[in-house]
Amino acid sequence: GQGTCIVTGASSGLGLATAKALAETGKWHIIMACRNFLKAERAAKSAGIAKENYTIMHLDLASLDSVRQFVDTFRRSGRPLDVLVCNAAVYLPTAKEPAFTAEGFELSVGTNHLGHFLLSRLLLEDMKKSDYPSKRLIIVGSITGNTNTLAGNVPPKANLGDLRGLSGGLNGLNRSAMIDGGVFDGAKAYKDSKVCNMLTMQEFHRRLHEETGIAFASLYPGCIATTGLFREHIPLFRLLFPPFQKYITKGFVSEHEAGKRLAQVVSDPSLTKSGAYWSWNKHSASFQNQLSQEASDAEKARKVWEISEKLVGLA
Ligand code: NDP
Repeated sequence: GQGTCIVTGASSGLGLATAKALAETGKWHIIMACRNFLKAERAAKSAGIAKENYTIMHLDLASLDSVRQFVDTFRRSGRPLDVLVCNAAVYLPTAKEPAFTAEGFELSVGTNHLGHFLLSRLLLEDMKKSDYPSKRLIIVGSITGNTNTLAGNVPPKANLGDLRGLSGGLNGLNRSAMIDGGVFDGAKAYKDSKVCNMLTMQEFHRRLHEETGIAFASLYPGCIATTGLFREHIPLFRLLFPPFQKYITKGFVSEHEAGKRLAQVVSDPSLTKSGAYWSWNKHSASFQNQLSQEASDAEKARKVWEISEKLVGLA
């Protein structure tokens, strides 16, 4: 039969392309977990995803109540959960002031990291029950959070510091809306959130791979310069970024190709290694890449996990 795969943020960009690539194999039913139902429905239709291959369920990662409600709705559907893809993200590079989630966490880290952290912790129970032979939990990472790469060294660099802002609730009241306790910077908050995503994947691997057999993975699909992620950027940036990536850095990848890459991490029999961070070379061949020092710091991963548990109400 078909496997069931949840993809968050499947209403545009990489998430939509991945849903399409998976649906086309005929082997997957995709749960499109989206905050805007109508947009998701239109996107699925215009991408030509066959009706029987997807279900849209409402999920707003910027609200922990919504995350819990989504999990309930999914459970009531009676479907097993075989693969979870945490893909949704916001990027607010030009914001002068922080914005906040329903619970009052800075919006980029609150959505990209804390929302997905609660979602994946809750859904892990469902994945444990599935008898699918190759269960996977995938969190989309990014090169921008990786200071061991050229792109990861463009300022402002990711840096979680001693996590004092995160411990303080990331709300700008106690301490700061930034994880490291520093002054708000939207571009840095996004990169920090991606470091958290990669640390979470590894901490999942260390704590739960042996017990559950689930493969925990992260990836950098390449620079998909055409997605909605850059919608908040200044117009000149949006004009120049795609050709810059195409001709100068040569890191450019189409949404279609990036979707195929993420779909490989979902179902390719050769990409089953748990704890891996996948990348692709210029010939579109996958390889296991190195994470930056901070993104592979086991002590920091443990701390981020423990503080995040408290913030989302799991501990
Ligand atoms: P898009 O902006 O096109 O897609 C982001 C998706 O996340 C959209 O579907 C959006 O929903 C959804 N989303 C945002 N906020 C929420 C929320 N609160 N609740 C639920 N869904 C939400 O960007 P990309 O496709 O580029 O990004 C997808 C992933 O790829 C991200 O994790 C990003 O970090 C990563 N990535 C992207 C790269 C790139 O070059 N573009 C490079 C490396 C990684 P809506 O449609 O309603 O806005």
